[in-house]
Amino acid sequence: MAKILDGSEIAGKIKEELKCEIEKLKEKDIFSSLIAIQVGENPGAKIYARSQKKACEKIGINYKLHQFKEDISLKEMEEFIKKLNKDKKVNGIIIQMPLPSHLDAFTLQRMINPLKDAEGVSPANMGMLVYGRPLLAPCTAMAVMEIIKSTGINLFGKEAVMVGHSDIVGKPVALLLLKEFVTTSVCHIATGERGRLPYYVKEAEILIVAVGKANLIKGEWIKEGALVIDVGINRVEGKIVGDVEFEKAKEKASYITPVPGGVGPVTTAILLKNTIEATKIQSK
Ligand code: NAP
Repeated sequence: MAKILDGSEIAGKIKEELKCEIEKLKEKDIFSSLIAIQVGENPGAKIYARSQKKACEKIGINYKLHQFKEDISLKEMEEFIKKLNKDKKVNGIIIQMPLPSHLDAFTLQRMINPLKDAEGVSPANMGMLVYGRPLLAPCTAMAVMEIIKSTGINLFGKEAVMVGHSDIVGKPVALLLLKEFVTTSVCHIATGERGRLPYYVKEAEILIVAVGKANLIKGEWIKEGALVIDVGINRVEGKIVGDVEFEKAKEKASYITPVPGGVGPVTTAILLKNTIEATKIQSK
């Protein structure tokens, strides 16, 4: 039976360390701030912003949400982001998803000063990952690595499978695993369509799944003793579930993350960590 990896516990430890860092910064008269930008009235994004605000305030980061009307133009957004880039009191900037169809996330993220990119999604920060020198890396990918490292297993030469190759999760996780000398395979839609997912999953000593399809990964495919990280978030009959058949998978895995309560809380903690990291870089 697998050990359940409690995301809130891991996040709690990270936040405790961050509190100490914030105290040290305060002694030097340095304060940390995170600015969120939301366009439109998406209720999910609002809930997310509220939880970000709470998490920031709890450890001593100033948080402010700027809300814009759905019809804001790209030019107006650009001007606002430029203003934040120049403002010395702003250390971190995040753009809440989803955006209305006339605003492209990549275009906006490219406008953020990479040193204020708290989500680690700007092309410059992605480039640092490719060079094996992550500065501010994508929060969920970093959260996956924190969880893996929390188990204490020796990663050198381990065989991992990353299911999903999105820019914010799958690709950066694969790069971070390579940095640790993990032999890494990446599966995606074509792997699934060729019916080859079970073939890869069955070989995975470390399995990470970030797809967004409930129960895509069958419990019987899990390798005996595997470490399983389920990033997926799916709503099924009013309940939140992951991408992995949790009950069956936990019979075979040695470690597994639950959904909810696994990757999610650690991702929020990494957002705070990136904000403080950004503050430190900017104050040098
Ligand atoms: P995404 O951009 O939609 O990417 C999903 C990936 O899964 C794509 O690479 C896609 O491949 C691949 N895929 C789709 N169907 C597949 C199949 N049948 N077999 C294998 N691969 C398949 O999503 P994302 O942003 O990475 O997020 C993935 C999931 O994680 C979502 O449920 C999201 O809500 C959740 N998430 C959770 C957190 C957290 O903090 N807990 C954070 C971020 C995301 P193609 O691109 O080739 O189609």
